[in-house]
Amino acid sequence: MSSTYDPYENVVAVMEKAVEIGNIDKRMFEILKNPQRETKVYLPVEMDDGTVKVFEGYRVQHSNIRGPFKGGIRFHKDVNLNEVKALATWMSLKCAVVNIPFGGAKGGIKVDPSTLSKRELCALTRRYTFAIAPIIGADTDIPAPDVNTNAQIMTWVLDTYSQLKGKPCPGVVTGKPLELGGSKGRPSATGRGIVISTKLLLDQDNKKLTGTRIAIQGCGNVGGNAARIFAHRDAVVVALSDVSGGVYKASGLDADKITAFVENGGLIKDYNDEGVVHISNEEVLVCDCDVLVPAALENQITKEVAKALKCSYIVEGANGPTAEDADSIIEERNIKLIPDIFSNSGGVIVSYFEWVQNIQEIAWEKPQVNEMLETIMTKAFEEMVEETERSNCTFRMAAYIIALRRLIHTEEIKGIFP
Ligand code: GLU
Repeated sequence: MSSTYDPYENVVAVMEKAVEIGNIDKRMFEILKNPQRETKVYLPVEMDDGTVKVFEGYRVQHSNIRGPFKGGIRFHKDVNLNEVKALATWMSLKCAVVNIPFGGAKGGIKVDPSTLSKRELCALTRRYTFAIAPIIGADTDIPAPDVNTNAQIMTWVLDTYSQLKGKPCPGVVTGKPLELGGSKGRPSATGRGIVISTKLLLDQDNKKLTGTRIAIQGCGNVGGNAARIFAHRDAVVVALSDVSGGVYKASGLDADKITAFVENGGLIKDYNDEGVVHISNEEVLVCDCDVLVPAALENQITKEVAKALKCSYIVEGANGPTAEDADSIIEERNIKLIPDIFSNSGGVIVSYFEWVQNIQEIAWEKPQVNEMLETIMTKAFEEMVEETERSNCTFRMAAYIIALRRLIHTEEIKGIFP
């Protein structure tokens, strides 16, 4: 990541452009340029060696105008306030573009979790939950997993919050284990949404997933699950990477085998199989493929990368993987791009299903979850296509215009308090 890149400036610049292109009322837009609340907490943890370390944590609540704040918690060494603000804003836009009744929030702790023992990680998570407990809840703000967090961490959040309230509160987090009220289909939902987005995009050009060559940067919850589902649908996963590096095979990698290897703690740089060539993370982005799925972190497709891309399509898996100034190059080069706020919305859509199941105290079967996910995404995709035609714009602009219109319309009918 370049040191001058600011994700919050990036998202505000894209919103401003959408306001112009979509001819959106600027008066109420002022409200959306800032979050409603930023919380910073300092978290003391007694380490295994007896020393005390204090970690920085955040929860930014961007908007609850359309429903409770919603968004994941990220553990990463580079977490900072402006990144969390951007991520919270993207959540408001994401929930609005797919029209689910949530607002947007995001949390994060500045830590490299791989340097902590399980006990230290549990203590840090519980202390963070304790610190933000006054501002979260099933009807106020509902955290979920994000980069480097998972169902185990959600369990510690849930348990700490429930202990404080003196009762089980399953609806306070999503992405929980099934045993504690999690939803079938939630772990793979973001990856599934990436595949659904790709299928809808290819349909437009009368192309099929079968035989389409896919390159994926990132092998976490999003990239890993997308790789597996793509391979099961007869697409050809030609490249895959994690933090350590990438692998390439023109005739197709064994996605099941690599993702199992990574899930068992392996690093892709140590993965070997017949015909597999090792490449760098940057080389994954510019490798020979049909569809590129950047599913790692922000600001990966910079201007320079955009000029070197060899793909025909980009389906964003991560939040904010494309720098704002790279978008115009991608557009000029006629590379069709499906933006993060639509393409990675599968996770929060199934989080919404999980929350509904918790409130109703019922459990749905996986086929029902997957079918409803596809229905919601297909409808939102059609709306996005209509907007590209109406405003003669890219998919990113169309998604932002739809989301901003919905948010601003709600601001208008509610008015400003007091
Ligand atoms: N962290 C995911 C995202 O960025 C999921 C959020 C959620 O389920 O609340 O969309």
